[in-house]
Amino acid sequence: MPELPEVETTLRGLEKVLLNRTLLSVEIRRKDLRFPLPADMHKTLIHQRITSMERRAKYMLVHFAHGQTLLIHLGMSGRMTIDDGVEPLAPHDHVIFKTDGGQRIRYNDARRFGMMDIVATAKTAQHKLLKNLGVEPLGHAFTAATLHTKIQNKKIAIKLAIMDQAVVVGVGNIYASEALYGAGINPMRSANTLNQNECKKLVSAIQSVLKRAIEKGGSTLRDYVQSDGELGYFQHEFAVYGRSGLPCKNCTCEGGIQKITQGGRSTFFCAVTQV
Ligand SMILES: [Zn+2]
Repeated sequence: MPELPEVETTLRGLEKVLLNRTLLSVEIRRKDLRFPLPADMHKTLIHQRITSMERRAKYMLVHFAHGQTLLIHLGMSGRMTIDDGVEPLAPHDHVIFKTDGGQRIRYNDARRFGMMDIVATAKTAQHKLLKNLGVEPLGHAFTAATLHTKIQNKKIAIKLAIMDQAVVVGVGNIYASEALYGAGINPMRSANTLNQNECKKLVSAIQSVLKRAIEKGGSTLRDYVQSDGELGYFQHEFAVYGRSGLPCKNCTCEGGIQKITQGGRSTFFCAVTQV
């Protein structure tokens, strides 16, 4: 499943071919993804120029000159590919855009948990999927003080608290484990027991694991695009995620990285250095 770094690198890759370009065609090959695609999507976007793009949580917002915004979420398996439009389409290529720069962008989604919607640019913050989102982990508003305030009455495990989109957005299962390891905080700790200093370490660890992953995407891929034109996905190096039983780089803990289940998802951690 794409996490925030994949969405960010997909966005940066798309920006290279979409900014200041006009859509010459918008082909919608099925009526729905997770939700029905907007009935007027083709009519709204065709012949319109893209002026800017941004990410909010794991949503990509593509802003057009006429004041409309295309909202895209990759869901569980959404992938975007840039090519020159010559190759035949693949199974699950559901939405296809062509630009006046000669490029084709395909949205492929085998499991169809992704979504697209159209919203007036001035009203994006009020969109039903965006209006209740918490602060951006890489934004200025995410500080030790804000995290501390948001979690001080929460008696759930800290790992579940930082994955709560009302606390901070875009910290998925993988980066929650990685950040808690970086901060030396046990994922099972009750969120309300973290002090200001631990919140400071955690904010810094969340920002650093996400930034490192985004930089890795940028340095591994040329302009964030793989050689086959696919965007956003790249090889990660995790400290704990998926490393159950392997040696821990921070210490010589017996048995190595531990794996437990929290909220139905796997958590990886070091039982010695994370307290
Ligand atoms: Zn260890």
